[in-house]
Amino acid sequence: MTRKDRALKYMRILEETYPDAECSLEAVDPLQLLISVQLAAQCTDARVNIVTKTLFPKYPDVYAFANADLEELEQDIKPTGFYRNKAKNIIGCCQRLIEAYGGEVPDNMDDLLSLPGVGRKTANLILGDVFHKGGMVIDTHAKRLLKRAGLTKETDPTKVEFDVEPLIPKDKQSDFCHRLVLHGRAVCSARHPRCEVCPAAEICMKKI
Ligand code: SF4
Repeated sequence: MTRKDRALKYMRILEETYPDAECSLEAVDPLQLLISVQLAAQCTDARVNIVTKTLFPKYPDVYAFANADLEELEQDIKPTGFYRNKAKNIIGCCQRLIEAYGGEVPDNMDDLLSLPGVGRKTANLILGDVFHKGGMVIDTHAKRLLKRAGLTKETDPTKVEFDVEPLIPKDKQSDFCHRLVLHGRAVCSARHPRCEVCPAAEICMKKI
């Protein structure tokens, strides 16, 4: 079986196992998703969702975030960790959205990467989930699972992205990555992968 065949088989197994693939961050528009993803760095999605439940009503649009008081925003997002950097980036990001993109979240990689605090992982998630343009979101789960499955030997997230991206159809990439997260949480955890009950064992190289 080629690497591409195994990748497609893995994708189908995850589709059957986790039919409801979706981002676990709660957001009602592209801006909220963009901010939630930034808050999710080094933090669980569950904790981000608790914080944003009060954060988004307090800052209802891009202008509210762009004009936020830095110290107040820091306190508002403190439970997500690394709050000083995150607050500075969120304000800078929203100011740039207003200055360069009419207050809208842009729909291409180069423009997204020009925003403070936005790296390839965040940009790919926005491109896939908001604009349906595909995008491999290589977070800690995706990186671990793709390596274990033998679909990449790379460890740097950008190299993993470029290595695996050609193996998965564009319109499936986003959901595939969401399912990798679900599988990483449910079965293929960092410390105790449950290979004996894993539906993907037949294609997995188990390179742990
Ligand atoms: S077989 Fe084991 S290592 Fe491979 S995906 Fe399943 S749980 Fe993870």
